[in-house]
Amino acid sequence: MIIAVDGPAAAGKGTLTRNLADHFDLARLDTGLIYRAAGKLASQLGDPADSATAVKAAQSLSFTDLEKPSLRDEVAGEVASKVAAVPEVRAILLSFQREFAAHPPGGKKGAVLDGRDIGTVVCPDATVKLFITASPEVRAERRFKELQERGEEAIRSRILRDIKDRDKRDCSRPVAPLEPAKDAKVIDTSDLDAAAVFAVALEYIDLQNIT
Ligand code: C5P
Repeated sequence: MIIAVDGPAAAGKGTLTRNLADHFDLARLDTGLIYRAAGKLASQLGDPADSATAVKAAQSLSFTDLEKPSLRDEVAGEVASKVAAVPEVRAILLSFQREFAAHPPGGKKGAVLDGRDIGTVVCPDATVKLFITASPEVRAERRFKELQERGEEAIRSRILRDIKDRDKRDCSRPVAPLEPAKDAKVIDTSDLDAAAVFAVALEYIDLQNIT
């Protein structure tokens, strides 16, 4: 069983993915972390928006790089979306993601992957495809609260601007732009809490008669 969960930043993909992985006992891969790690490495090497630098970073990525806590910060998200727009970077990172889906670690019988292009490019034959979205304002507010809870400095208007910039970059890139797969179930989480989103997803999966 492969579940693809795509959508823009702070729409609720991470929480849903964790809930689905626990419920169905699946391996979980947050593919954003791979791009974040590549982005961070690229900014240490030079300009992350420069293709050659981004490619060099993607090639030298080791999977222990995915464990760094600093990958969760806003700067990492920003540089991730820059390296993610480079087609060669996407090609390099594709095989790891497909390998994970084909052979989930830990003896799991399937996997749930979250990202931007899982249902469209990485796993086009996924058993279930979900596209999780919410208005930019709601997503910015969630991110703001999250940062505040972590004790990090945050400015609402700046977060909203960054979210809109990142959406624009992710949606307009020529390779694997952020868009729902034609056969994805779109869930707008603007007015739903995490439990409600999980309930909608489970109901949809049940209706597919695949479990
Ligand atoms: O999901 P997260 O916010 O961690 O992703 C960071 C960035 O990595 C995204 O804005 C996007 O540019 C890129 N990304 C991607 N494809 C994926 C996952 C993430 O392009 N499958």
